Amino acid sequence: MDARVDKPDNANFPIAIIGAGFSGLGMAIRLKQAGIESFTLFERADEVGGTWRDNAYPGAACDVSSHLYSFSFEQKPDWSRAFAEQPEIQQYILELTEKHGLRSHVRFNTEIVKAVFDQGSGLWTLYDRAGQHWRARALISGTGGLSDPKIPEIEGLEHFEGPMFHTARWDAACDLRGKRVAVIGSGASAIQVVPAIAPEVAELKVFQRTPPWIMPKMDRPMREAEKRRYRRFPPALWLRRLWLYWAAELRAPLLISNRPLFKRLLRRLALRHIQSQVSDPALRQRVIPDYNVGCKRVLISNDWYPALQRENVSLIDQGVKAVTSHGVVASDGSEHDVDVIVLATGFNTPTAAAPLDIRGLGGVTLNEAWRNGSEAYKGVTVSGFPNLFLLVGPNTGPGHTSVLVYLEKQLDYVMQALGYMRRHRLKYLNVLPEVQKDFNDWLQARMQDTVWVAGGCDSWYITEDGKNTSLYPGFATDYRLRVSRFRPAEYQRVALPGQSSDSTTRPVTDAA
Ligand code: NAP
Repeated sequence: MDARVDKPDNANFPIAIIGAGFSGLGMAIRLKQAGIESFTLFERADEVGGTWRDNAYPGAACDVSSHLYSFSFEQKPDWSRAFAEQPEIQQYILELTEKHGLRSHVRFNTEIVKAVFDQGSGLWTLYDRAGQHWRARALISGTGGLSDPKIPEIEGLEHFEGPMFHTARWDAACDLRGKRVAVIGSGASAIQVVPAIAPEVAELKVFQRTPPWIMPKMDRPMREAEKRRYRRFPPALWLRRLWLYWAAELRAPLLISNRPLFKRLLRRLALRHIQSQVSDPALRQRVIPDYNVGCKRVLISNDWYPALQRENVSLIDQGVKAVTSHGVVASDGSEHDVDVIVLATGFNTPTAAAPLDIRGLGGVTLNEAWRNGSEAYKGVTVSGFPNLFLLVGPNTGPGHTSVLVYLEKQLDYVMQALGYMRRHRLKYLNVLPEVQKDFNDWLQARMQDTVWVAGGCDSWYITEDGKNTSLYPGFATDYRLRVSRFRPAEYQRVALPGQSSDSTTRPVTDAA
């Protein structure tokens, strides 16, 4: 598919990208590859990397194979491990940034807090926290789904007198050696940080409210011979990627569906992992979840259960009732004095809110449009918010594979849309409400059979009204096919002055 965008008219087609993580940088690379330089990345921090810049806690690693958790158009032959750790992924991102000359396009330390669409000009105005503003024809949001740490509402949290920080805001200056540490949470971040810090702290109290299902991690260092082969013979690297992609696709029904047969099979595998790693029957019972495998994210680890059995580690399988000046009070009233608290409590997700104050046609905010949960057409465009493109938007997260394989197709889709706008000198494109509604009705109907909705747990995937607005209920291949072609007829197309608007302003519903 042709993702080329016509040669830019820099003056008339400025593009704003919010966020310089995988999404924003991927978008920038695709623009540059198409010869487009008229874009700016707005980044609130002082470095690129997004998630992989922020999540620098000890033990941070990706739980998706590195050869799939990287861009297909920028494959890396020499990953050091099958599942790379955070520093290596951040290094990969930094190298991409330099290689494609992206740094000069980034406005660092610039947090866009508001974006307002003007119907007359078809331009977005972006405002940063300091009150500066910029104009752009297209606004591309690459803010990521998991970028704002969730600080839990626990009574007395603010009164704790020792160091307290979130995993995504790790305080590297805080020396944990010999300290008594509490980790609140037992999700994807906690199961990585606990084994990493357990050997150095004096005492570690792990507050687990809900146990996760955990599978063995098939990690290993990559052999020098493999790296050499991938470097010298790139098709071998493609083959590895292809194998990883299809292996994940084959697992998809097992993980996504709530069919009893699939769930029994996965449960048996996960229980075997617990049995092989936990000798104490009482502890086994405390780490076995009471919901179906896959309802919350399935985690992979070989060192979480061993860490819980260390002499200096105790598992408190209670919610947290309060925090005092010197420790944590569990729901059963037991008090645990600690020197440091680590919040491994996850993120505020877009199920709850728009990434920033975005105002579309008629001044309607994205939060108002999303009052019943976030939704978009194919996860990318939102009716009433012309020329706005979301990367890794609503319902485009995978439960079984790499988010980057979804993202790459979204980049192609945005490129096609921008190309269409350029060729037809459009003022704006606005996805038709009925097109968005049909897509989401179909998606939510399909969602009802998934383990995320029917698996018997609470998770960050689901809104308070029980709607999953985070994940895509199907194969990655299915999503990729659906998003592979930009269909102009699904959009209201409004031309710039002087252009014939007849063919472009009239809403047309796609017959396909
Ligand atoms: P998470 O999965 O949302 O886990 C948060 C943990 O904190 C849960 O155990 C939760 O308990 C607990 N918690 C929250 N509020 C609490 C409270 N008030 N009292 C007690 N416990 C509380 O967050 P995460 O571990 O940071 O992971 C978030 C997502 O980031 C993952 O699902 C994954 O998509 C991504 N991630 C990926 C990787 C990777 O390797 N690729 C690594 C880390 C994170 P409940 O379960 O009872 O709510």
